[in-house]
Amino acid sequence: MDIVDAATRSRMMSGIKGKNTKPEVSIRKALHARGFRYRIHVNNLPGKPDLVLPKYSAVVFVHGCFWHGHSCRYFKIPQTRPDFWREKIRKNQLRDKKQESSLLAGGWRVLVVWECAVRSRNKEKFALVIDLIAEWLINGNENSQIDENECSMIESATILKESQPNI
Ligand code: ZN
Repeated sequence: MDIVDAATRSRMMSGIKGKNTKPEVSIRKALHARGFRYRIHVNNLPGKPDLVLPKYSAVVFVHGCFWHGHSCRYFKIPQTRPDFWREKIRKNQLRDKKQESSLLAGGWRVLVVWECAVRSRNKEKFALVIDLIAEWLINGNENSQIDENECSMIESATILKESQPNI
């Protein structure tokens, strides 16, 4: 089922594909405020990662859920020309995987932040995502991703922990 109208969809697609999209800029600013230094849109690395942090051997991609085919509630194949879109998104996913593999092979750690994780205007939620990114940069594994579900899980776990008495 198609839940967004044409205008919304065209906004989704144009906004999500381009560089310097809003979520990306907000993430960048927040990381900078926490003292992380990075380079942006480094052209000589596979996939032109949105943020490159050489000090942490890390690159960060901020992926739009539609364009990169994230299996979340924001991803819907448009009703018009569904096969065209399915194929297009499948190709994008394949390309993403390839680029990720090349980066990993080149000794980079790779983090994907899905747009659904930073879509909310809730400041606490956004700060949580930044916490997760910062933690990953410092202590994280080779390859990870942050999405809306993970954030809600951590959020409810934190609330649970805080509501329990200290033993
Ligand atoms: Zn998503």
